[in-house]
Amino acid sequence: MKVVKFGGTSLATADQIRKVCKIVASDPDRRLVVVSAPGKRFREDIKVTDMLIACAKAKLEKGNAEKELSNIINRFSDIAADLGMSKDIANIIATDLKARIDGDTSNKSRFMDSLKAAGEDNCARLVAAYLRGTGVEASYVSPADAGLLLSDEFGNAQVLPQSYANLKSLKNLPGITIFPGFFGYSIKGEVVTLPRGGSDITGSILAAAVEADLYENFTDVDNVYSVNPNLISNPRPIHELTYREMRELSYAGFSVFHEEALVPVFMKGIPVSIKNTNNPGAPGTTILKNRENITDPVVGIASESGFCFIYMSKYLMNREVGFGRKILTILEDECLSYEHIPSGIDNISIILRQDRMDAEKEARVVNRIKAELSVDDISVQRDIALIMIVGEGMQHSIGLASRATTAFFKAGINIEMINQGSSEVSMMFGVKNEDSDNAVKALYQEFFG
Ligand code: ASP
Repeated sequence: MKVVKFGGTSLATADQIRKVCKIVASDPDRRLVVVSAPGKRFREDIKVTDMLIACAKAKLEKGNAEKELSNIINRFSDIAADLGMSKDIANIIATDLKARIDGDTSNKSRFMDSLKAAGEDNCARLVAAYLRGTGVEASYVSPADAGLLLSDEFGNAQVLPQSYANLKSLKNLPGITIFPGFFGYSIKGEVVTLPRGGSDITGSILAAAVEADLYENFTDVDNVYSVNPNLISNPRPIHELTYREMRELSYAGFSVFHEEALVPVFMKGIPVSIKNTNNPGAPGTTILKNRENITDPVVGIASESGFCFIYMSKYLMNREVGFGRKILTILEDECLSYEHIPSGIDNISIILRQDRMDAEKEARVVNRIKAELSVDDISVQRDIALIMIVGEGMQHSIGLASRATTAFFKAGINIEMINQGSSEVSMMFGVKNEDSDNAVKALYQEFFG
């Protein structure tokens, strides 16, 4: 049995939905299908999820979202009409959206999540109805009925362990099951969404629950590339990746597959195949536990901006018992998770995602560190990008750090931080945001040029 997930661009128009249905019908093992909300039809277009967010905001801020709502209803009814479907499905979707916008707004995050989930939910209803219309046995299944339970963190939920047992019976449903991605229900029965792009996570949870043989993730590129194709034209494709490599690459900006989506399939050892809806015959990229024939040390280069460093120094820091614990307590009190903590004898840097620490939080953290740890020096540097080189082959290669730093030197790029050692399959460099693209190009030239 295969679990198949289709991303937003695969569902953006009637033509795309026809391709999706053809792909599903062409393989009898494709029995559990997860859909995203309709995505962008062209570059400047707006994803349905973003339209829903704008709609919820309009309702919360102005008390009225009629225009925004009718744009979304039109998006769905245009797709249904182009698919030659009767008005019934468009009416069902319009009724559902109206009920959501008229819902209780007393808890803003809960209201927002109820709207955000509508894109996937209605897309799943539409695809199931269309498939049935073409004579295929297909049914929409609601995450509530299936028992997909999530933590009650609106917009950032995580799967609850009991979901796996609940969802197992999806395996036994007849025909093709169309399941909406991106959301589930809290124990209280409220709609909660996963992080943005979370339909990948839904697919992975379902694949693990039914112990699928394969999790196919259909998107709009032929495969994962060794570097962002917007930076390097025709970069080298990657046909096989290990879970560890994919995890590191998606952490640092490879957006083809959600970084949180690997855990469920990894636990069950289910391989993932990234494929292109517009070119399903292409081999794609397979993500698995181990890969053989590792010839090159580096498989991919990724970069992600938007980090900041809190740097501090104190003479004889290495002798001070409890220094680290005190810093971490301050971060915990401020609900800050850290990304990395490189340290020296008398100094330490804490790397955080900067959007999680606004100016007020920064001032509180800095003041507490000064007061409670009596540091000699403390500063915060924002707008840092992390560049990662990743590959299982790195464990057995000599001179990689030298090659990378020489590439930076030749490109005139100052390295703010190097982190290597904890991970066997990656090496990380911090550079200023404005140097990020050139840093990636220099590394690509060195390792793949
Ligand atoms: N539609 C949601 C988003 O745009 C989830 C997804 O596409 O996976 O984030």
